[in-house]
Parts: sequence; C-alpha cells; structure tokens
Amino acid sequence: APAPPVVTRIAPSPTGTMHIGTARTALFNWLFARRHGGQFLLRIEDTDRARSTEQATQTILNGLTWLGLDHDGDIVSQADRADRHAQVAHQMLAEGSAYKCFSTQEEIEAFREEARAAGRSTLFQSPWRDVPAIDHPDAPAVIRLRAPRDGTTVIRDAVQGDVTFRNDQLDDMVLLRSDGTPTYMLAVVVDDHDMGITHVIRGDDHLNNAARQAQIFDAMDWAQPVWAHIPLIHGADGKKLSKRHGATGVEEYAEMGFPARALRNYLARLGWSHGDDEFFTDAQAIEWFDLGGIGRAPARLDLKKLENLSGQHL
Ligand code: GLU
Repeated sequence: APAPPVVTRIAPSPTGTMHIGTARTALFNWLFARRHGGQFLLRIEDTDRARSTEQATQTILNGLTWLGLDHDGDIVSQADRADRHAQVAHQMLAEGSAYKCFSTQEEIEAFREEARAAGRSTLFQSPWRDVPAIDHPDAPAVIRLRAPRDGTTVIRDAVQGDVTFRNDQLDDMVLLRSDGTPTYMLAVVVDDHDMGITHVIRGDDHLNNAARQAQIFDAMDWAQPVWAHIPLIHGADGKKLSKRHGATGVEEYAEMGFPARALRNYLARLGWSHGDDEFFTDAQAIEWFDLGGIGRAPARLDLKKLENLSGQHL
C-alpha cells in the first residue's frame, strides 16, 4: 500500500513568547511536510486555561507569519476539543482499557508514604484497577489508563533510535479528571490521532511523554505516529538555552533586524545538517530536509553564524 501522505504539526502552548526552540521545531515540521508534499498543521495547546493567553497565541501566530511558515487548514484549539477528549476516555472505560479510580489525594499520599517507609516503589497502584463497576461508590472519580504492568514500552524514534521504558515504572496515568476535564496526555493523543498526524517532530524534552502517549495510542488501537525527538538548543556554554545566553524569543530576532530567510537558514542548520552546506535557499532546504540528518547532540546557538548568514542572505 502507498505510504499515507505526510501530516506534521506544531503544537505550541500559548503561555509566553515564541521561543527560538519552538521556531526551530516549527521549521523542521514545515520543511518535512513541504519536502513530502504533505500538510503542516497548527494546534494551539490551550488546555491549561489559567496559563494560556490570547496575547501569547497572537505572538506565536505573528512569529510563524514573520518566519514564513505557513500552515495548512484551520488552527485547532485544544480547549475547544474537550468534549471529544472526554468521549474517548469514556470509550476506553467501556472497552476496559481504562477504569474509574475513586482514590482521594490523601489516600494516594498515604500509599506513597507507606511505600517509601517500606522501601517499595512509590508509583501509585490504584486499588480500584480491578474493582467491577457494580461495586463502585457514587462518588467523584478520575478515569485512569489500565496501563500494562509488565514488559516494556519502546519508542522507535527516528532521531534517538529505540528508547525503552519499563512498564513497571509508568503508573496508570489519569486521562480524565474528576471534574470531567481531560489531562494533557490524553488531549495530545486524541488530537494527533484525529488530525491524522503521521510524524511527531518535537523537542526531546517530550521523550518521556511519548512513552505515555504510546500507551494511549495502543490502548485505542490507533497507529502511533513516527516519533522524532530533536535534542534541545543549548547556549554557547553547552547549557540549556535561557535568557542569560541572549535572545530566546523569535520576535527579538526580528527586532534585531535579522532577515527571516537568514534565520530560517540558520535554524535549519541548528541540529540538522546536509553535508558541509551552511548557506542554502528555502528551495534547497525543502529539497534536502530529512529526519536522518538530525543529530543526537544538542545544537549550540552561535550568533556569529547567524550574522554571517544574514550577510549572505541580503
Ligand atoms: N505544547 C507542547 C509544548 O509547547 C508541545 C507538545 C508536543 O509537541 O507534543 O512544548
């Protein structure tokens, strides 16, 4: 059968500026989609209502526009999809791949205390996992994934190779809170599935999440996307990029006068390589981009290189 058309996405949380790392992730997803004549979708992960702002969403949209990373289709708001997320949780409940857990915060804390004192794993094991519905109390409950207890969950990553997680170190994650709202983990999987995402290309700070997300995909019998977790951007000193290394927001680079095409060229090279080529046009980047060219070591931000490229792109 022919391979399905490529669909990628960028899924920023609108809680601050548009970080240069998010811009690079967006660029990689855009390049990969354009390379394969596929689609590049945009989802605003505004599930965390308290931290999400309209202004931050606008900053992200402006950043993408300035960078020239046009997305396909309508913008998806994760918060708007809460009913669908809840529906999937209830389907899992009906199918037995999830269960209702009535344990209170106090009970979970007590479980952990006891495990700690006894030198056992403090991973919460719900006493409700195998209690039949007929014996359920009429009380608020969360819905938890009935995660596999034995064996491993393997993420076959296009950048990191096979990454193995022991299932006895992953708890039965909460999918739906007792107030009926979805957790982030559930929302991401349902959205990626419904949007038809074929490749999840994102920072490797999400690698642990991938293991949990893979368990939800499997529980729903949905095909997992191809995973590609890119090493984060570091500063010149090798430490995780932060404000003290200089500009971290895309808008700051725009304000400093760097041409967008030079920043695109520079960000494409940050963590990805094509032979010894440093300078290239958008058309070349689209022609050359592949997941195999993404390195496993964190890239270091080097403003001198960006300045050089800016001179060449005038
Ligand atoms: N919303 C997440 C972030 O801003 C991205 C999650 C993902 O790409 O799966 O880091």
